[in-house]
Amino acid sequence: YVAKRKTTGIQIYDPALDSSSTQTLSLLTELRHAVEDGQLRLYLQPKLNLSDNTVIAAEALVRWQHPVRGLVPPMQFIPFAEQTGFVRQLTLWMFEEVAKELPRLRADGRPLRVAINLSTRDLLDQDFPAKLDAMMLKHNAPTNAFCLEITESAIMDDPQRAEATLNRLSERGFKLSIDDFGTGYSSLAYLKRLPVNELKIDKSFVMGMENDESDAKIVRSTIDLAHNLGLSVVAEGVENQAILDKLVELQCDEAQGYFMSKPIPLPDFIAWRAKHQASQAA
Ligand code: C2E
Ligand code: MG
Ligand code: MG
Ligand code: MG
Repeated sequence: YVAKRKTTGIQIYDPALDSSSTQTLSLLTELRHAVEDGQLRLYLQPKLNLSDNTVIAAEALVRWQHPVRGLVPPMQFIPFAEQTGFVRQLTLWMFEEVAKELPRLRADGRPLRVAINLSTRDLLDQDFPAKLDAMMLKHNAPTNAFCLEITESAIMDDPQRAEATLNRLSERGFKLSIDDFGTGYSSLAYLKRLPVNELKIDKSFVMGMENDESDAKIVRSTIDLAHNLGLSVVAEGVENQAILDKLVELQCDEAQGYFMSKPIPLPDFIAWRAKHQASQAA
Protein backbone atom coordinates (compact mmCIF):
# COMPACT_ATOMS: atom_id res chain seq x y z
CA TYR A 1 0.00 0.00 0.00
CA VAL A 2 2.78 2.40 0.86
CA ALA A 3 4.48 1.92 -2.50
CA LYS A 4 1.20 2.31 -4.36
CA ARG A 5 0.35 5.43 -2.45
CA LYS A 6 3.61 7.07 -3.46
CA THR A 7 3.00 6.49 -7.15
CA THR A 8 -0.61 7.66 -7.12
CA GLY A 9 0.32 11.14 -5.90
CA ILE A 10 -2.12 13.04 -3.72
CA GLN A 11 -4.81 10.37 -3.49
CA ILE A 12 -3.73 9.57 0.02
CA TYR A 13 -6.84 8.40 1.79
CA ASP A 14 -8.91 5.39 0.83
CA PRO A 15 -11.86 4.95 3.24
CA ALA A 16 -12.18 1.33 2.15
CA LEU A 17 -9.00 0.46 4.06
CA ASP A 18 -9.50 -0.74 7.60
CA SER A 19 -8.00 1.23 10.45
CA SER A 20 -5.23 -1.27 11.20
CA SER A 21 -3.81 -1.26 7.67
CA THR A 22 -0.24 -0.26 6.94
CA GLN A 23 -1.41 2.76 4.98
CA THR A 24 -3.51 4.02 7.88
CA LEU A 25 -0.69 3.71 10.37
CA SER A 26 1.77 5.38 8.05
CA LEU A 27 -0.59 8.26 7.26
CA LEU A 28 -1.28 8.77 10.95
CA THR A 29 2.46 8.98 11.59
CA GLU A 30 2.79 11.46 8.76
CA LEU A 31 -0.02 13.60 10.13
CA ARG A 32 1.57 13.66 13.59
CA HIS A 33 4.77 14.82 11.96
CA ALA A 34 2.86 17.40 9.97
CA VAL A 35 1.74 19.07 13.20
CA GLU A 36 5.13 18.74 14.92
CA ASP A 37 7.13 19.93 11.89
CA GLY A 38 4.82 22.83 11.17
CA GLN A 39 3.53 21.53 7.84
CA LEU A 40 -0.05 22.59 8.48
CA ARG A 41 -1.13 25.97 7.11
CA LEU A 42 -3.89 28.30 8.21
CA TYR A 43 -5.82 29.73 5.27
CA LEU A 44 -8.54 32.35 5.61
CA GLN A 45 -11.52 33.13 3.41
CA PRO A 46 -13.44 36.40 3.92
CA LYS A 47 -17.14 36.53 4.72
CA LEU A 48 -18.68 39.69 3.27
CA ASN A 49 -21.30 41.50 5.34
CA LEU A 50 -24.00 42.25 2.76
CA SER A 51 -25.63 45.13 4.59
CA ASP A 52 -22.56 47.38 4.46
CA ASN A 53 -19.95 45.50 2.37
CA THR A 54 -17.52 45.25 5.28
CA VAL A 55 -15.52 42.13 6.13
CA ILE A 56 -15.89 41.43 9.83
CA ALA A 57 -15.69 37.66 9.59
CA ALA A 58 -13.57 34.96 7.96
CA GLU A 59 -13.43 31.17 7.88
CA ALA A 60 -10.23 29.40 8.88
CA LEU A 61 -9.45 26.43 6.62
CA VAL A 62 -6.55 24.05 7.01
CA ARG A 63 -4.05 23.04 4.29
CA TRP A 64 -1.21 20.54 4.52
CA GLN A 65 2.04 21.71 2.97
CA HIS A 66 3.43 18.25 2.33
CA PRO A 67 7.19 18.00 1.55
CA VAL A 68 6.54 15.65 -1.39
CA ARG A 69 2.91 16.04 -2.37
CA GLY A 70 2.70 19.83 -2.19
CA LEU A 71 -0.37 21.63 -0.87
CA VAL A 72 -2.87 18.93 0.13
CA PRO A 73 -6.54 20.02 0.40
CA PRO A 74 -8.46 19.16 3.60
CA MET A 75 -10.81 16.68 1.98
CA GLN A 76 -7.80 14.39 1.45
CA PHE A 77 -6.95 14.11 5.14
CA ILE A 78 -9.81 15.45 7.30
CA PRO A 79 -12.04 12.38 6.81
CA PHE A 80 -9.07 10.21 7.78
CA ALA A 81 -8.29 12.44 10.76
CA GLU A 82 -11.91 12.14 11.86
CA GLN A 83 -11.90 8.37 11.53
CA THR A 84 -8.77 8.03 13.66
CA GLY A 85 -9.64 10.74 16.18
CA PHE A 86 -6.55 12.74 15.24
CA VAL A 87 -8.84 15.56 14.14
CA ARG A 88 -9.10 16.65 17.80
CA GLN A 89 -5.44 17.63 17.73
CA LEU A 90 -5.97 19.34 14.41
CA THR A 91 -8.88 21.36 15.83
CA LEU A 92 -6.72 22.50 18.75
CA TRP A 93 -3.92 23.40 16.32
CA MET A 94 -6.40 25.61 14.43
CA PHE A 95 -7.58 27.34 17.62
CA GLU A 96 -4.01 27.94 18.71
CA GLU A 97 -3.02 29.38 15.31
CA VAL A 98 -6.02 31.72 15.19
CA ALA A 99 -5.76 32.74 18.85
CA LYS A 100 -2.06 33.50 18.36
CA GLU A 101 -2.69 35.55 15.21
CA LEU A 102 -5.77 37.37 16.48
CA PRO A 103 -3.93 40.56 17.51
CA ARG A 104 -2.44 40.76 14.00
CA LEU A 105 -5.84 40.07 12.41
CA ARG A 106 -7.43 42.82 14.49
CA ALA A 107 -4.58 45.31 14.27
CA ASP A 108 -6.64 47.64 12.05
CA GLY A 109 -9.08 48.09 14.92
CA ARG A 110 -11.88 46.12 13.28
CA PRO A 111 -13.54 43.33 15.27
CA LEU A 112 -12.79 40.39 12.97
CA ARG A 113 -14.47 37.13 13.95
CA VAL A 114 -12.89 33.88 12.77
CA ALA A 115 -14.88 30.70 12.12
CA ILE A 116 -13.30 27.33 12.90
CA ASN A 117 -14.72 23.99 11.74
CA LEU A 118 -15.42 21.43 14.46
CA SER A 119 -15.76 17.69 13.96
CA THR A 120 -18.01 15.11 15.59
CA ARG A 121 -15.03 14.03 17.66
CA ASP A 122 -14.76 17.47 19.25
CA LEU A 123 -18.46 17.48 20.15
CA LEU A 124 -18.17 14.06 21.78
CA ASP A 125 -15.06 15.00 23.77
CA GLN A 126 -16.18 15.89 27.31
CA ASP A 127 -12.95 17.81 27.89
CA PHE A 128 -13.16 19.92 24.73
CA PRO A 129 -14.61 23.07 26.35
CA ALA A 130 -11.92 22.94 29.07
CA LYS A 131 -9.20 22.54 26.42
CA LEU A 132 -10.50 25.69 24.72
CA ASP A 133 -10.55 27.52 28.06
CA ALA A 134 -6.86 26.77 28.47
CA MET A 135 -6.12 27.90 24.92
CA MET A 136 -8.02 31.17 25.30
CA LEU A 137 -6.25 31.86 28.57
CA LYS A 138 -2.82 31.08 27.13
CA HIS A 139 -3.26 33.59 24.29
CA ASN A 140 -5.53 36.01 26.13
CA ALA A 141 -8.06 35.60 23.33
CA PRO A 142 -11.73 36.60 23.68
CA THR A 143 -14.19 33.76 23.00
CA ASN A 144 -16.51 36.04 21.04
CA ALA A 145 -13.81 36.40 18.38
CA PHE A 146 -14.56 32.81 17.40
CA CYS A 147 -17.44 31.24 15.54
CA LEU A 148 -17.60 27.45 15.63
CA GLU A 149 -18.96 25.78 12.49
CA ILE A 150 -20.65 22.43 13.04
CA THR A 151 -22.36 20.28 10.42
CA GLU A 152 -25.80 18.81 10.93
CA SER A 153 -24.42 15.29 10.70
CA ALA A 154 -21.83 15.98 13.41
CA ILE A 155 -24.67 17.04 15.71
CA MET A 156 -26.97 14.16 14.79
CA ASP A 157 -24.28 11.56 15.53
CA ASP A 158 -25.18 11.86 19.20
CA PRO A 159 -27.64 14.77 19.53
CA GLN A 160 -27.79 14.73 23.33
CA ARG A 161 -24.05 14.91 23.83
CA ALA A 162 -23.70 17.45 21.04
CA GLU A 163 -26.34 19.60 22.69
CA ALA A 164 -24.56 19.44 26.04
CA THR A 165 -21.22 20.42 24.46
CA LEU A 166 -22.78 23.20 22.39
CA ASN A 167 -24.47 24.63 25.47
CA ARG A 168 -21.15 24.71 27.29
CA LEU A 169 -19.42 26.37 24.33
CA SER A 170 -22.19 28.91 23.94
CA GLU A 171 -22.06 29.77 27.66
CA ARG A 172 -18.41 30.64 27.17
CA GLY A 173 -19.27 33.19 24.50
CA PHE A 174 -18.34 31.24 21.36
CA LYS A 175 -20.69 31.89 18.42
CA LEU A 176 -22.13 28.77 16.81
CA SER A 177 -22.98 28.15 13.16
CA ILE A 178 -24.58 25.21 11.35
CA ASP A 179 -22.35 24.46 8.35
CA ASP A 180 -23.49 22.96 5.02
CA PHE A 181 -27.07 23.58 6.07
CA GLY A 182 -29.56 21.57 4.03
CA THR A 183 -27.27 18.66 3.21
CA GLY A 184 -27.54 16.73 6.49
CA TYR A 185 -30.33 15.14 8.41
CA SER A 186 -30.88 17.55 11.27
CA SER A 187 -34.31 17.87 12.76
CA LEU A 188 -35.76 21.35 13.07
CA ALA A 189 -37.01 20.43 16.53
CA TYR A 190 -33.39 19.95 17.57
CA LEU A 191 -32.11 23.03 15.80
CA LYS A 192 -34.63 25.14 17.66
CA ARG A 193 -33.23 23.97 21.01
CA LEU A 194 -29.57 24.48 20.20
CA PRO A 195 -27.83 27.75 21.11
CA VAL A 196 -27.03 28.45 17.46
CA ASN A 197 -26.39 31.95 16.07
CA GLU A 198 -26.05 31.30 12.35
CA LEU A 199 -27.05 29.03 9.47
CA LYS A 200 -24.64 28.54 6.59
CA ILE A 201 -26.32 27.56 3.33
CA ASP A 202 -24.39 24.81 1.59
CA LYS A 203 -22.55 25.86 -1.54
CA SER A 204 -24.32 23.27 -3.70
CA PHE A 205 -27.58 25.26 -3.39
CA VAL A 206 -25.88 28.64 -3.78
CA MET A 207 -23.94 27.55 -6.86
CA GLY A 208 -27.09 26.08 -8.39
CA MET A 209 -29.46 28.96 -7.69
CA GLU A 210 -28.95 30.66 -11.07
CA ASN A 211 -29.97 27.71 -13.18
CA ASP A 212 -31.96 25.45 -10.89
CA GLU A 213 -35.33 26.68 -9.67
CA SER A 214 -35.35 24.25 -6.71
CA ASP A 215 -31.94 25.43 -5.52
CA ALA A 216 -33.15 29.03 -5.73
CA LYS A 217 -36.19 28.14 -3.64
CA ILE A 218 -34.07 26.31 -1.07
CA VAL A 219 -31.78 29.34 -0.69
CA ARG A 220 -34.77 31.68 -0.37
CA SER A 221 -36.54 29.51 2.22
CA THR A 222 -33.38 28.93 4.25
CA ILE A 223 -32.85 32.69 4.51
CA ASP A 224 -36.47 33.09 5.66
CA LEU A 225 -36.19 30.17 8.08
CA ALA A 226 -33.03 31.59 9.64
CA HIS A 227 -34.54 35.04 10.02
CA ASN A 228 -37.78 33.64 11.46
CA LEU A 229 -35.73 31.78 14.06
CA GLY A 230 -33.76 34.95 14.84
CA LEU A 231 -30.57 33.60 13.27
CA SER A 232 -28.07 35.19 10.95
CA VAL A 233 -27.56 33.49 7.56
CA VAL A 234 -24.46 33.07 5.39
CA ALA A 235 -24.27 31.83 1.81
CA GLU A 236 -21.09 29.92 0.90
CA GLY A 237 -19.93 29.22 -2.66
CA VAL A 238 -20.67 32.65 -4.19
CA GLU A 239 -18.85 32.56 -7.52
CA ASN A 240 -20.26 35.52 -9.46
CA GLN A 241 -21.84 38.98 -9.25
CA ALA A 242 -25.31 37.80 -10.29
CA ILE A 243 -25.55 35.41 -7.34
CA LEU A 244 -24.17 38.02 -4.97
CA ASP A 245 -26.81 40.54 -6.19
CA LYS A 246 -29.55 37.97 -5.76
CA LEU A 247 -28.43 37.22 -2.18
CA VAL A 248 -28.51 40.95 -1.37
CA GLU A 249 -32.03 41.12 -2.76
CA LEU A 250 -33.06 38.12 -0.63
CA GLN A 251 -31.58 39.90 2.43
CA CYS A 252 -29.00 37.25 3.14
CA ASP A 253 -26.69 38.58 5.88
CA GLU A 254 -23.26 37.41 4.72
CA ALA A 255 -21.62 35.86 1.66
CA GLN A 256 -18.47 33.82 1.21
CA GLY A 257 -17.04 32.58 -2.07
CA TYR A 258 -14.43 32.63 -4.78
CA PHE A 259 -16.05 35.74 -6.30
CA MET A 260 -14.81 37.74 -3.30
CA SER A 261 -11.73 35.63 -2.55
CA LYS A 262 -10.53 32.06 -2.34
CA PRO A 263 -9.11 30.93 1.01
CA ILE A 264 -5.63 32.55 1.24
CA PRO A 265 -2.69 32.62 3.70
CA LEU A 266 -2.97 35.07 6.60
CA PRO A 267 -0.67 37.85 5.27
CA ASP A 268 -2.56 37.79 1.94
CA PHE A 269 -5.83 37.96 3.82
CA ILE A 270 -4.72 41.04 5.77
CA ALA A 271 -3.65 42.72 2.52
CA TRP A 272 -6.87 41.71 0.74
CA ARG A 273 -8.99 43.11 3.54
CA ALA A 274 -7.10 46.42 3.68
CA LYS A 275 -7.56 46.80 -0.08
CA HIS A 276 -11.23 45.91 0.17
CA GLN A 277 -11.83 48.46 2.94
CA ALA A 278 -9.98 51.13 0.98
CA SER A 279 -12.08 50.47 -2.12
CA GLN A 280 -15.23 50.76 0.01
CA ALA A 281 -14.13 54.07 1.47
CA ALA A 282 -13.32 55.53 -1.95
P1 C2E B 1 -16.55 23.86 4.67
O1 C2E B 1 -16.35 24.09 6.11
O2 C2E B 1 -17.93 23.81 4.17
O3 C2E B 1 -15.70 25.01 3.97
C1 C2E B 1 -16.06 25.63 2.76
C2 C2E B 1 -15.35 25.01 1.58
O4 C2E B 1 -15.90 25.56 0.39
C3 C2E B 1 -13.85 25.33 1.53
O5 C2E B 1 -13.19 24.21 0.93
C4 C2E B 1 -13.81 26.52 0.58
O6 C2E B 1 -12.57 26.67 -0.08
C5 C2E B 1 -14.87 26.11 -0.39
N1 C2E B 1 -15.43 27.27 -1.11
C6 C2E B 1 -15.67 28.50 -0.61
N2 C2E B 1 -16.17 29.32 -1.56
C7 C2E B 1 -16.25 28.58 -2.69
C8 C2E B 1 -16.69 28.88 -4.03
O7 C2E B 1 -17.10 29.99 -4.36
N3 C2E B 1 -16.64 27.85 -4.91
C9 C2E B 1 -16.19 26.62 -4.58
N4 C2E B 1 -16.16 25.68 -5.53
N5 C2E B 1 -15.75 26.30 -3.33
C10 C2E B 1 -15.79 27.28 -2.41
P2 C2E B 1 -11.88 23.56 1.57
O8 C2E B 1 -11.00 24.62 2.16
O9 C2E B 1 -11.31 22.65 0.55
O10 C2E B 1 -12.45 22.72 2.77
C11 C2E B 1 -13.31 21.64 2.54
C12 C2E B 1 -13.89 21.13 3.83
O11 C2E B 1 -12.86 20.56 4.64
C13 C2E B 1 -14.54 22.20 4.69
O12 C2E B 1 -15.83 22.48 4.20
C14 C2E B 1 -14.53 21.50 6.02
O13 C2E B 1 -15.59 20.58 6.12
C15 C2E B 1 -13.23 20.73 5.98
N6 C2E B 1 -12.19 21.51 6.69
C16 C2E B 1 -11.36 22.45 6.22
N7 C2E B 1 -10.54 22.91 7.21
C17 C2E B 1 -10.89 22.23 8.33
C18 C2E B 1 -10.42 22.24 9.68
O14 C2E B 1 -9.53 23.00 10.08
N8 C2E B 1 -11.03 21.39 10.55
C19 C2E B 1 -12.04 20.55 10.15
N9 C2E B 1 -12.59 19.73 11.07
N10 C2E B 1 -12.51 20.52 8.91
C20 C2E B 1 -11.94 21.36 8.00
MG1 MG C 1 -17.07 25.49 7.35
MG1 MG D 1 -19.66 24.70 4.49
MG1 MG E 1 -18.80 21.99 2.88
